[in-house]
Amino acid sequence: MGIAERYEKVEEELAQECALAGRDPKEVRLVAVSKTVGVEGVGEAYAAGARDFGENRPDQIVPKSQAFPDARWHFIGNIQSRRIRDIVDSASLIHSVYQEKHARKIDEVAREKGIVQDILIEVNVSGEESKSGVSPDEAEALVDVCETLPNVRVRGFMTMAPQGDLEIARRCFEGLAKLAEKVRASLPASSAEAFDELSMGMSEDWREAVHAGATIVRIGRAIFSDSF
Ligand SMILES: *Cc1c(COP(=O)(O)O)cnc(C)c1O
Repeated sequence: MGIAERYEKVEEELAQECALAGRDPKEVRLVAVSKTVGVEGVGEAYAAGARDFGENRPDQIVPKSQAFPDARWHFIGNIQSRRIRDIVDSASLIHSVYQEKHARKIDEVAREKGIVQDILIEVNVSGEESKSGVSPDEAEALVDVCETLPNVRVRGFMTMAPQGDLEIARRCFEGLAKLAEKVRASLPASSAEAFDELSMGMSEDWREAVHAGATIVRIGRAIFSDSF
């Protein structure tokens, strides 16, 4: 199987899992995480219908988004202040904001460009030290700070679950969904309406995420690796 076939297979499995969860497949966006392949690999997924791609490095998202400008590009990696301009230039959604200084810099760059940048706040639900993100306790405060930034729009939360135990992953995703509900309820109506995305679930655990309410799944290896 090649990339195109694997993309189609994942898309089909995602639709099936949505049906099992009683959800409309249109509610769950499939982001093809293309960080392990080049422009050619992106092209194979694009030919199979992929229009959302995820990258975790500025050096990758810039050239790939230029090669496929009508796709939506998602930045899912570690943010460095000096690369925020490149990220804002390339990404329709930045999933991995968890520091106030980065939110402020994104706001500043977006203002200069005359746009409003959509972002997600990354939450470390599991508390694993190796994972980045704000703690669930800090998430609401960071959302509140972002509410004061006119050129940033918080669309929801993102998380990564610990790998290796689907039961733990499921609890992690349910925890994020619950937190999002709580934070949404605290927001003014206009902001609450836009706060409707939950980015969670990867190659190994996206099914659990779909059942827990994911609106975005980020899938890399199941599409781009022939050994997954
Ligand atoms: C690499 C990556 C993914 C995709 O992971 P796979 O296990 O390859 O599906 C998803 N989210 C983030 C933040 C990543 O860095």
